[in-house]
Amino acid sequence: MNVADNATVIQNNIHAACERAGRSSDSITVIAVTKYVTAVRALEAYEAGIRHFGENRPEGLLEKKEAIGEEAVWHFIGSLQTRKVKSMIDHADYIHSLDRLALAEEIQKRAARQVKCFVQVNVSGEESKHGLKPEEVQNFIEKLKDFPKIQVAGLMTMAPYTDNEQEIRNCFRTLKHLQESIKGQNIGYAPCTELSMGMSNDYVIAAEEGATFIRIGSSLVGNESGGV
Ligand SMILES: *Cc1c(COP(=O)(O)O)cnc(C)c1O
Repeated sequence: MNVADNATVIQNNIHAACERAGRSSDSITVIAVTKYVTAVRALEAYEAGIRHFGENRPEGLLEKKEAIGEEAVWHFIGSLQTRKVKSMIDHADYIHSLDRLALAEEIQKRAARQVKCFVQVNVSGEESKHGLKPEEVQNFIEKLKDFPKIQVAGLMTMAPYTDNEQEIRNCFRTLKHLQESIKGQNIGYAPCTELSMGMSNDYVIAAEEGATFIRIGSSLVGNESGGV
């Protein structure tokens, strides 16, 4: 299917999920994750009206941004190696993978302006996943006061890879509780109003559970050059 048709299906699903949850779908931004596809396919998404793009490698972000331009909003969603920060930091509007102080230090050193960051949380505890343990998040955010280039826009997680819907839902709920707790503290550099959660397999649950940014690759732009 073409990107515009996929986007319509996804928007309808998000809309229905928001109705069930009693929230407005205007509060959700879909990020097209273009890491699997060509710049030509990414451009098709732009032409279909998508304005938020996500990539998990600095090279991919720079390549797609070059093709699509400054009008779009650029999200870095992958684990970020410290030595790669310099090449990409001023090209990303949001970093979704802040998970350690060494990375905060490097962003502080390299960024020309304040960067909106999501603190990545490993709610499920799966070893293959990056991110802080939920109980480490409060302390980590307090330490970020020493890094004026970093603004904590919100929290990000990846749900466990499972068919067990309740397990996925619990993961998103835990992240939301944590986000509300940080937000409620009114920390100047950590407004923490956003929740980055939900991918192709679980975005409907994420929408029901309060996501404000949903990161979709496979079911929006496909997962190899061209098709879905
Ligand atoms: C690849 C990726 C996505 C999108 O995955 P799909 O399942 O293809 O939608 C979202 N978030 C992160 C962090 C990713 O690495």
